[in-house]
Amino acid sequence: MLNQVALFESLRGMLASAEGTTGVLMLRTQRLREVSLLLGYDVGEAFVDAVHAVVQDAVRACDQVWRVGEGEFVALLPGLRDRNHAALAAAKLVRVLQHPLEAAGQRVLPVVAVGIAAAPDDATDAPTLCRCADLACDDAGLSSERFAFYQSQRFASTFSHGDLADAIAGNRLELFLQPIADLASGRLDRCEALARWTHPELGSISPDIFVRVAEQTGLIGELTRWSLNVTLRHVAEAIESRAAGTTQRVPMVSVNIAIPALQQVGFSEQIVDMLRFWNVPPEYLLLEITEGGLMADPAYCERVMQQLRGHGLGIAIDDFGTGYSSMAYLRRLPANELKIDKSFVQDMGKDPRAAKLVGSMIDVSHHLGMAVVAEGVEDAETLSALQAMGCDHAQGYHIGRPAPAAQVMAALTGSAAG
Ligand code: C2E
Ligand code: CA
Ligand code: CA
Repeated sequence: MLNQVALFESLRGMLASAEGTTGVLMLRTQRLREVSLLLGYDVGEAFVDAVHAVVQDAVRACDQVWRVGEGEFVALLPGLRDRNHAALAAAKLVRVLQHPLEAAGQRVLPVVAVGIAAAPDDATDAPTLCRCADLACDDAGLSSERFAFYQSQRFASTFSHGDLADAIAGNRLELFLQPIADLASGRLDRCEALARWTHPELGSISPDIFVRVAEQTGLIGELTRWSLNVTLRHVAEAIESRAAGTTQRVPMVSVNIAIPALQQVGFSEQIVDMLRFWNVPPEYLLLEITEGGLMADPAYCERVMQQLRGHGLGIAIDDFGTGYSSMAYLRRLPANELKIDKSFVQDMGKDPRAAKLVGSMIDVSHHLGMAVVAEGVEDAETLSALQAMGCDHAQGYHIGRPAPAAQVMAALTGSAAG
């Protein structure tokens, strides 16, 4: 987060002297990357400045507005009567940002989402309040009102942290793999590891939910080690079968690495130890790190990524296009691959602008020396359009759905079971 130290400091001061409710709003400008790629970076920058000015203008003189990301702002609202007053402020921001803004000679219509957290209702410390507002902002992005309160009961009512801890420790998660096609050769030469959890009472729970809970509750290190170990066991088996002559190929496998896992001390050493333990050469493992996560702490991520690359591992920037990274960072980050987020790929067929955007992303990645994977390829038309654009790899339901690891491994290695 940009300005994090100063923001937390200021919020702490506000909370210490606060009377009534303190509101924390997280405002995110969506599709900022699209604006920059279609209209130019100068327009993108001017557009964010224009949003900043409108937000600043809409809040009270005693409120503070902080820029915390490429198109992200936090507004601190001291001395409110209750949390509904924070919602009034959020609704006002949505309303004033419903009109096109003037940006470097262009008119750009903002699309914003505002998440609301309040002290003392949701939390009483600065980092937690900001996280609550951030989580609420995700919900806001899905709502038609474009603003949302933080909901503390969202996960608590479904499963407990203990359930998840037990499932990881008891090896009751399941590893699925989704094949990835090489578009030049047409072969399925790789796959992505995706965790699955079936709760004994609640049934199957989306990884989007349990991974996020793991991140929030300190279980992410365990979950990541579980994913890496199970993945490496499958790769080690494939290497052994190839040596024994029962199969011909060993696919590279990518594993998702959440930022809090990457931030744990000794992360790259752990990976190297695991590779050594399973006797798997590093070129079979690719780590996927989300663009949004990278932007939370680019300098630190860059260092760890350098170390990992130094050990011979591949790194992909996941969900590219949703994390508002600047070109300056992108150029510096030692990734060898970009995965274009499925939201862009899925729109290619019905929206020529989305198709153009995907084409531009492919060009930019290639210029920066990175290979491109398109995610969310759901039909043959999208696949051939991507092929024509020079995209390197494709992943999606049209190519193959995620399935139990043993089954996908058998298919990809060409063993009899496949
Ligand atoms: P992701 O890394 O972006 O993974 C791709 C997601 O897109 C997967 O969802 C996959 O099933 C889905 N998908 C693949 N092809 C298509 C398609 O053609 N159309 C549509 N609509 N969706 C498609 P899944 O398995 O539900 O995973 C969700 C997210 O949870 C992943 O997003 C990843 O961020 C996270 N995740 C999953 N397993 C792990 C894990 O072991 N560790 C960590 N840290 N995160 C994980
Ligand atoms: Ca991924
Ligand atoms: Ca992704």
